[in-house]
Amino acid sequence: MPAPQSAHHNVVVIGGGNAGLSVAGRLRRYGVSDVTVIEPRENHLYQPMFSHIAGGTAAPGMAVRRQASVIPRGVGWIRDRVETIAPDTNTVMLESGARVTNGQLVVCPGIQKNWNAVPGLADAMATPQGVSNYELEYAPKAWQVLSSTRSGTVVFTQPAGPATCAGAAQKPMYLACDYWREQGVLADIRVVLVVSSPTLFGMPMIDRELERKVAEYGIEVQYSSELVEVDAQAKTLVIAGVGAYSGSGGVSRRSLSYDVLHAVPPQSAPDWIASTGLAAEAGNDGNDGNDGDATGFVDVDPLTLRHPRYPNVWSLGDAAATTNSKSGGALRQQTLVLAKNLAAALAGKPLPERYNGYSVCPFTVSRSSVVFAEFDDRYQPKPTIPFWRGLAKERRLTWVADRYVLPWVYWNLILKGRA
Ligand SMILES: Cc1cc2nc3c(=O)[nH]c(=O)nc-3n(C[C@H](O)[C@H](O)[C@H](O)COP(=O)(O)OP(=O)(O)OC[C@H]3O[C@@H](n4cnc5c(N)ncnc54)[C@H](O)[C@@H]3O)c2cc1C
Repeated sequence: MPAPQSAHHNVVVIGGGNAGLSVAGRLRRYGVSDVTVIEPRENHLYQPMFSHIAGGTAAPGMAVRRQASVIPRGVGWIRDRVETIAPDTNTVMLESGARVTNGQLVVCPGIQKNWNAVPGLADAMATPQGVSNYELEYAPKAWQVLSSTRSGTVVFTQPAGPATCAGAAQKPMYLACDYWREQGVLADIRVVLVVSSPTLFGMPMIDRELERKVAEYGIEVQYSSELVEVDAQAKTLVIAGVGAYSGSGGVSRRSLSYDVLHAVPPQSAPDWIASTGLAAEAGNDGNDGNDGDATGFVDVDPLTLRHPRYPNVWSLGDAAATTNSKSGGALRQQTLVLAKNLAAALAGKPLPERYNGYSVCPFTVSRSSVVFAEFDDRYQPKPTIPFWRGLAKERRLTWVADRYVLPWVYWNLILKGRA
């Protein structure tokens, strides 16, 4: 339904993804009235399931529900796209031409996937050999192609810079390798992983587990490298040492022929945030991992999730310039912190909550086991069960959690602001 001209809402939430719906649901639970989400999509996507779809352990429908069916009770929905924000006048401008003014504003439109940032990559994705778990449209094709591969070279790429759940680039690779091993064809397939960091993840205890699986499957890893060019017609690609885009360092370029390319695109803050005056200007996010810097993302105090210059503006999730590794798991903490702080600000009270930088990345290292990485914004272990680091080992228990329990919790509790 188009937004009425000049609507006003007490709290306007930009983006009805994981962050937007969870925080809106929590705000309602904490008694905040007149909360409205602006979201253009008809369908809501549970992105962690994309990896299972690409790896053949879930059907495509399991990642999708109609947006109307997941908007939390008591929360409004304007089906439109935000073009820009004028925070000085508390106004949000929409694609339809309508304007919405806000009391409080929560900005969470997610991350932007830049398929055109690598020359030839977008074209390659349109060929039968180009697949990915990072878009719903490419994930079913990924499993079709990976499951029918019996020999040749399959290249998986994980980009440099900021990314949503960076390690998810590797998940379909382990799932496919386990399948090829079951089928007795793994030895005939050259599997190459191009990863931008000098290790597989960035935490020694997780790296050890992943290195063991990489050795078990015979995966060839190109560390500190990234995809810089694809020639889809010739089925060749070029990788280079990280820094190729900035021109820094002695970059060695290497060409590889491929039969299948499973690519993850470079990612960045949504371009339109730059003109709103809300973006973080420069500086690195300070961690040792693979998440790049925070430039262009919505500036926030990483502890309170409040904008440093506009006290009625807040941000969380993939679009926020927080210091953590971006993930849905991080949002379970962030939504609670933001909603409690915003409710307190409305009541004129001091902000009660601080975000602790928690994030998570569940690596599906086989078709029945997961290595569950839980960590803070310095890539130090941050286990949910204090003092027990056992979940960081390959386990069946965490497979059940990742494949079955967390999706149920997402649809039934997280999106309602209850977990
Ligand atoms: C392949 C893949 C696998 C993943 N696996 C995991 C995992 O295993 N575990 C984990 O914890 N996390 C995982 N994640 C990360 C997780 O999905 C994200 O961190 C999470 O969805 C971020 O929530 P968000 O609301 O910030 O962004 P999103 O969920 O992406 O939502 C953003 C919303 O904003 C809307 N929007 C965009 N622009 C505008 C605009 N201009 N106006 C209005 N609305 C707009 C979009 O339509 C979208 O609905 C994965 C992500 C991917 C892509």
